Amino acid sequence: MLRFLKDMIFPITCCNCEEFVESEGLCSECWNKIRWIGDPKCRICGVPFEFGVDLTCPMCSKRKPHFDKAIAVFEYDDFTKKVILKFKYNDTTYISKQLAAWMYRVSKNTVQKKVDFIVPVPIHFFKRLKRKYNQSELLALEFAKLSGISYEPRILLKKKSTPQQEGLSRNVRLKNVQGSFGIDEKYRNLLHKKTILLIDDVLTTGATINECSKILKKHGAEKIICVTAARVNLQYKFSN
Ligand SMILES: [Zn+2]
Ligand SMILES: [Zn+2]
Repeated sequence: MLRFLKDMIFPITCCNCEEFVESEGLCSECWNKIRWIGDPKCRICGVPFEFGVDLTCPMCSKRKPHFDKAIAVFEYDDFTKKVILKFKYNDTTYISKQLAAWMYRVSKNTVQKKVDFIVPVPIHFFKRLKRKYNQSELLALEFAKLSGISYEPRILLKKKSTPQQEGLSRNVRLKNVQGSFGIDEKYRNLLHKKTILLIDDVLTTGATINECSKILKKHGAEKIICVTAARVNLQYKFSN
Protein backbone atom coordinates (compact mmCIF):
# COMPACT_ATOMS: atom_id res chain seq x y z
CA MET A 1 0.00 0.00 0.00
CA LEU A 2 2.79 2.41 0.96
CA ARG A 3 4.71 1.50 -2.17
CA PHE A 4 1.57 2.07 -4.21
CA LEU A 5 1.10 5.52 -2.67
CA LYS A 6 4.75 6.40 -3.20
CA ASP A 7 4.52 5.36 -6.87
CA MET A 8 1.42 7.47 -7.26
CA ILE A 9 3.05 10.56 -5.81
CA PHE A 10 6.60 10.06 -7.10
CA PRO A 11 6.35 7.81 -10.15
CA ILE A 12 9.73 6.55 -11.43
CA THR A 13 10.59 7.47 -14.97
CA CYS A 14 13.15 6.02 -17.37
CA CYS A 15 16.73 7.40 -17.04
CA ASN A 16 16.50 8.65 -20.58
CA CYS A 17 12.90 9.38 -21.58
CA GLU A 18 9.69 10.19 -19.73
CA GLU A 19 8.33 6.64 -19.84
CA PHE A 20 7.21 5.28 -16.44
CA VAL A 21 9.19 2.28 -15.21
CA GLU A 22 8.81 -0.12 -12.28
CA SER A 23 12.30 0.37 -10.88
CA GLU A 24 15.09 2.90 -11.49
CA GLY A 25 16.80 2.40 -14.84
CA LEU A 26 15.94 2.53 -18.50
CA CYS A 27 12.59 1.60 -20.09
CA SER A 28 12.60 -1.40 -22.41
CA GLU A 29 12.54 0.74 -25.54
CA CYS A 30 15.64 2.71 -24.50
CA TRP A 31 17.33 -0.47 -23.28
CA ASN A 32 16.98 -2.01 -26.75
CA LYS A 33 18.75 0.94 -28.35
CA ILE A 34 22.00 0.30 -26.45
CA ARG A 35 24.85 -1.42 -28.27
CA TRP A 36 26.42 -3.57 -25.52
CA ILE A 37 30.05 -4.56 -25.86
CA GLY A 38 30.59 -8.29 -25.87
CA ASP A 39 33.33 -10.66 -27.01
CA PRO A 40 35.56 -10.80 -28.97
CA LYS A 41 37.52 -7.69 -28.06
CA CYS A 42 41.07 -6.47 -27.49
CA ARG A 43 42.60 -7.98 -24.35
CA ILE A 44 44.04 -4.61 -23.39
CA CYS A 45 41.95 -1.67 -24.59
CA GLY A 46 38.68 -3.58 -25.01
CA VAL A 47 37.92 -2.42 -28.55
CA PRO A 48 35.31 -4.85 -29.93
CA PHE A 49 36.23 -7.08 -32.89
CA GLU A 50 33.72 -8.07 -35.53
CA PHE A 51 34.73 -11.74 -35.34
CA GLY A 52 37.50 -14.01 -34.02
CA VAL A 53 38.77 -14.38 -30.48
CA ASP A 54 40.11 -12.04 -27.80
CA LEU A 55 43.54 -10.86 -29.03
CA THR A 56 45.59 -7.70 -28.72
CA CYS A 57 44.47 -5.09 -31.28
CA PRO A 58 46.99 -3.57 -33.73
CA MET A 59 47.06 -0.27 -31.82
CA CYS A 60 47.91 -1.91 -28.47
CA SER A 61 50.40 -4.25 -30.17
CA LYS A 62 52.18 -1.32 -31.74
CA ARG A 63 52.33 0.67 -28.55
CA LYS A 64 51.28 -0.92 -25.28
CA PRO A 65 49.24 1.56 -23.22
CA HIS A 66 50.16 2.42 -19.63
CA PHE A 67 46.95 0.80 -18.38
CA ASP A 68 46.74 -3.00 -18.27
CA LYS A 69 43.10 -3.46 -19.17
CA ALA A 70 40.15 -1.29 -20.13
CA ILE A 71 36.57 -2.53 -19.86
CA ALA A 72 33.49 -0.70 -21.13
CA VAL A 73 29.80 -1.55 -20.94
CA PHE A 74 28.39 -0.12 -24.16
CA GLU A 75 29.32 1.75 -27.30
CA TYR A 76 29.31 5.52 -27.27
CA ASP A 77 27.00 6.37 -30.14
CA ASP A 78 24.37 9.04 -30.80
CA PHE A 79 21.94 7.41 -28.40
CA THR A 80 24.22 6.67 -25.43
CA LYS A 81 25.87 10.06 -25.89
CA LYS A 82 22.50 11.60 -25.04
CA VAL A 83 22.24 9.53 -21.84
CA ILE A 84 25.83 10.39 -20.80
CA LEU A 85 25.48 14.11 -21.53
CA LYS A 86 22.29 14.22 -19.51
CA PHE A 87 24.14 12.62 -16.62
CA LYS A 88 27.11 14.96 -16.99
CA TYR A 89 25.41 18.31 -17.21
CA ASN A 90 21.77 18.11 -16.17
CA ASP A 91 21.97 17.16 -12.50
CA THR A 92 20.45 13.76 -13.29
CA THR A 93 22.92 12.17 -10.92
CA TYR A 94 20.62 9.23 -10.13
CA ILE A 95 21.70 7.71 -13.47
CA SER A 96 25.06 6.96 -11.82
CA LYS A 97 23.46 4.06 -9.90
CA GLN A 98 22.31 2.32 -13.07
CA LEU A 99 25.58 2.97 -14.93
CA ALA A 100 27.73 1.81 -12.01
CA ALA A 101 25.64 -1.35 -11.66
CA TRP A 102 26.32 -2.22 -15.29
CA MET A 103 30.00 -1.31 -14.94
CA TYR A 104 30.30 -3.57 -11.93
CA ARG A 105 28.50 -6.43 -13.65
CA VAL A 106 30.83 -6.49 -16.68
CA SER A 107 34.05 -6.11 -14.69
CA LYS A 108 33.27 -8.05 -11.51
CA ASN A 109 35.41 -11.06 -12.37
CA THR A 110 38.39 -8.91 -13.29
CA VAL A 111 38.33 -6.47 -10.38
CA GLN A 112 37.01 -8.32 -7.34
CA LYS A 113 39.79 -9.54 -5.02
CA LYS A 114 42.47 -8.02 -7.26
CA VAL A 115 41.93 -4.29 -6.89
CA ASP A 116 43.29 -2.39 -3.88
CA PHE A 117 41.31 0.80 -4.40
CA ILE A 118 39.13 2.77 -6.77
CA VAL A 119 40.25 6.11 -8.16
CA PRO A 120 37.95 8.33 -10.25
CA VAL A 121 39.38 10.37 -13.13
CA PRO A 122 39.44 13.89 -11.65
CA ILE A 123 38.22 17.08 -13.29
CA HIS A 124 39.73 20.51 -12.81
CA PHE A 125 38.61 22.55 -9.80
CA PHE A 126 36.96 25.24 -11.96
CA LYS A 127 35.10 22.70 -14.05
CA ARG A 128 33.85 21.11 -10.88
CA LEU A 129 32.63 24.45 -9.55
CA LYS A 130 30.73 25.03 -12.76
CA ARG A 131 29.26 21.52 -13.02
CA LYS A 132 28.80 21.10 -9.25
CA TYR A 133 29.90 17.46 -9.36
CA ASN A 134 32.34 15.15 -11.09
CA GLN A 135 30.41 12.40 -12.88
CA SER A 136 33.35 9.97 -12.56
CA GLU A 137 33.37 10.40 -8.78
CA LEU A 138 29.69 9.51 -8.62
CA LEU A 139 30.27 6.38 -10.69
CA ALA A 140 33.32 5.41 -8.61
CA LEU A 141 31.42 5.90 -5.37
CA GLU A 142 28.54 3.71 -6.52
CA PHE A 143 31.02 1.12 -7.79
CA ALA A 144 32.74 1.13 -4.39
CA LYS A 145 29.41 0.52 -2.64
CA LEU A 146 28.61 -2.43 -4.90
CA SER A 147 32.04 -4.05 -4.76
CA GLY A 148 33.14 -3.19 -1.23
CA ILE A 149 36.48 -1.96 -2.63
CA SER A 150 37.77 1.21 -0.96
CA TYR A 151 37.38 4.53 -2.68
CA GLU A 152 40.26 7.05 -2.84
CA PRO A 153 39.17 10.21 -4.66
CA ARG A 154 42.04 12.41 -3.49
CA ILE A 155 45.12 10.63 -4.87
CA LEU A 156 44.88 11.80 -8.45
CA LEU A 157 44.63 15.53 -9.20
CA LYS A 158 43.78 17.48 -12.32
CA LYS A 159 46.44 20.15 -12.28
CA LYS A 160 45.79 21.83 -15.60
CA SER A 161 42.47 22.58 -17.21
CA THR A 162 42.36 21.05 -20.69
CA PRO A 163 40.27 22.40 -23.59
CA GLN A 164 37.09 20.54 -24.55
CA GLN A 165 38.33 17.31 -26.18
CA GLU A 166 35.22 16.61 -28.23
CA GLY A 167 35.91 16.41 -31.94
CA LEU A 168 39.69 16.66 -31.59
CA SER A 169 42.07 14.18 -33.19
CA ARG A 170 43.86 11.52 -31.19
CA ASN A 171 47.21 13.29 -31.42
CA VAL A 172 45.82 16.64 -30.29
CA ARG A 173 44.03 14.94 -27.37
CA LEU A 174 47.23 13.18 -26.35
CA LYS A 175 49.11 16.47 -26.38
CA ASN A 176 46.37 18.26 -24.44
CA VAL A 177 46.31 15.80 -21.54
CA GLN A 178 50.09 15.46 -21.23
CA GLY A 179 51.20 16.73 -17.83
CA SER A 180 47.67 17.71 -16.83
CA PHE A 181 47.37 15.15 -14.00
CA GLY A 182 49.36 14.85 -10.80
CA ILE A 183 49.50 12.99 -7.48
CA ASP A 184 48.71 14.45 -4.08
CA GLU A 185 51.98 13.92 -2.23
CA LYS A 186 50.13 13.02 0.99
CA TYR A 187 48.86 9.83 -0.61
CA ARG A 188 52.01 8.93 -2.46
CA ASN A 189 52.97 6.01 -0.21
CA LEU A 190 49.59 4.40 -0.75
CA LEU A 191 50.38 3.57 -4.37
CA HIS A 192 53.34 1.26 -3.89
CA LYS A 193 52.76 -2.05 -5.71
CA LYS A 194 49.01 -1.52 -5.75
CA THR A 195 46.40 -2.50 -8.33
CA ILE A 196 44.16 0.44 -9.04
CA LEU A 197 40.76 0.63 -10.63
CA LEU A 198 40.37 3.84 -12.58
CA ILE A 199 36.80 4.94 -13.24
CA ASP A 200 35.59 7.32 -15.96
CA ASP A 201 32.34 7.82 -17.87
CA VAL A 202 33.58 7.55 -21.46
CA LEU A 203 36.69 6.20 -23.14
CA THR A 204 37.23 8.10 -26.37
CA THR A 205 40.79 7.72 -27.61
CA GLY A 206 42.06 6.46 -24.26
CA ALA A 207 44.34 9.52 -23.94
CA THR A 208 42.96 10.52 -20.53
CA ILE A 209 43.08 7.10 -18.85
CA ASN A 210 46.48 6.48 -20.39
CA GLU A 211 47.88 9.68 -18.91
CA CYS A 212 46.33 8.94 -15.49
CA SER A 213 47.77 5.42 -15.59
CA LYS A 214 51.20 6.77 -16.50
CA ILE A 215 51.23 9.06 -13.46
CA LEU A 216 49.92 6.38 -11.09
CA LYS A 217 52.55 3.90 -12.28
CA LYS A 218 55.29 6.50 -12.11
CA HIS A 219 54.45 6.82 -8.42
CA GLY A 220 54.59 3.12 -7.70
CA ALA A 221 51.27 1.57 -8.77
CA GLU A 222 51.77 -1.83 -10.32
CA LYS A 223 48.64 -2.47 -12.31
CA ILE A 224 45.82 -0.29 -13.63
CA ILE A 225 42.41 -1.55 -14.69
CA CYS A 226 40.04 1.01 -16.20
CA VAL A 227 36.28 0.66 -16.26
CA THR A 228 34.10 3.11 -18.17
CA ALA A 229 30.40 3.14 -18.95
CA ALA A 230 30.87 3.86 -22.64
CA ARG A 231 33.59 3.52 -25.23
CA VAL A 232 33.95 4.98 -28.71
CA ASN A 233 34.26 2.19 -31.22
CA LEU A 234 37.36 2.91 -33.25
CA GLN A 235 37.12 -0.36 -35.13
CA TYR A 236 37.08 1.37 -38.51
CA LYS A 237 40.65 2.50 -37.88
CA PHE A 238 41.94 -1.02 -38.42
CA SER A 239 41.15 -1.05 -42.11
CA ASN A 240 43.18 2.13 -42.73
ZN1 LIG B 1 13.22 5.34 -21.99
ZN1 LIG C 1 43.69 -2.65 -27.97
